[in-house]
Amino acid sequence: MSHANGGKIAVVAVGGNSLIRDKTHQTVPDQYAASVESMARITDMIEAGWDVVITHGNGPQVGFILRRTELAIHELHPVPLDYCGADTQGAIGYMFQRALYNEFHKRGLAKQAATVITQALVDRNDPAFKNPSKPIGSFMDQATASQHSQSEGWAVVEDAGRGWRRVVPSPLPIRIVERDAIESLIRAGYVVISNGGGGIPVIEDDQGNLVGVEAVIDKDFGGALMATSINAELFLITTAVEKVALNYNRPDQRWLDRMTLGEARQYLDEGHFAKGSMEPKIRAIIGYLERGGQQALITDPENIGRALAGETGTWIVP
Ligand code: ADP
Ligand code: MG
Repeated sequence: MSHANGGKIAVVAVGGNSLIRDKTHQTVPDQYAASVESMARITDMIEAGWDVVITHGNGPQVGFILRRTELAIHELHPVPLDYCGADTQGAIGYMFQRALYNEFHKRGLAKQAATVITQALVDRNDPAFKNPSKPIGSFMDQATASQHSQSEGWAVVEDAGRGWRRVVPSPLPIRIVERDAIESLIRAGYVVISNGGGGIPVIEDDQGNLVGVEAVIDKDFGGALMATSINAELFLITTAVEKVALNYNRPDQRWLDRMTLGEARQYLDEGHFAKGSMEPKIRAIIGYLERGGQQALITDPENIGRALAGETGTWIVP
């Protein structure tokens, strides 16, 4: 069981669509059903010889926990964001582990998947802490927002007439704390699920102890750091689109088969990639390639196999 096969390492960052297909499929059984499909495509990669480290987003799942907290606050304690990160890494890791177990069983594959609860170190002086920008949790009226801001110190913003929302910092991850454990597992032949939600954000205090912070890390940046940290031969981001486009959703839209690092930087500057969706992916891939990464790919889960065969997806190379 789980003998290292000496294959190449791929870090696969699965997007929100691997867990939630649409607004009418959000329940836990729905999320499991979506996981089953995505993990089958990842099993194809494993059968093709890749050693896969899976990472994933957790935005909607954290939102559900925060909403439950809000509804139950007269009776139960609030859940800090670092703890939300750990909860979702565990729960999503469980769904992926079970989906992979069943897929391996079906195919007679002697493989095992394991989830590593992962902390990601962020710089306590990261400028993001002075500029909380990531909206989380429910919309509030102004009175509720200012009450939270006074009693809990929340940063709150008015969101385009839709109401008030809490915003938290989104610092860059600089070190994956459990890196060595993750690398040992992958080199020993295990399929590893780790650094979910970009990693649980922690800072180092003056004594070198880790402290969880009220922040969120972008899963695309978390995935790219993972790919760099374990010297992955491939950084694959799966999302809801088969390819990346220039002039996305416009009449002159053009799908890209391939771009170089230089072209990626240029298209980014020209504003082709929407903030909060495609932009962080391209930035994350640029970072991975700048740190010596070999190749990155963006496609949807259904097309992983075809994309790896060079038939589709958008490849980004140095
Ligand atoms: P994920 O959960 O996978 O991170 P996101 O919604 O954050 O998903 O990002 C993927 C989305 O980015 C796509 O579904 C697409 O609508 C959007 N997008 C924005 N700009 C582009 C672009 N230039 N090319 C392709 N997709 C784009
Ligand atoms: Mg996203």
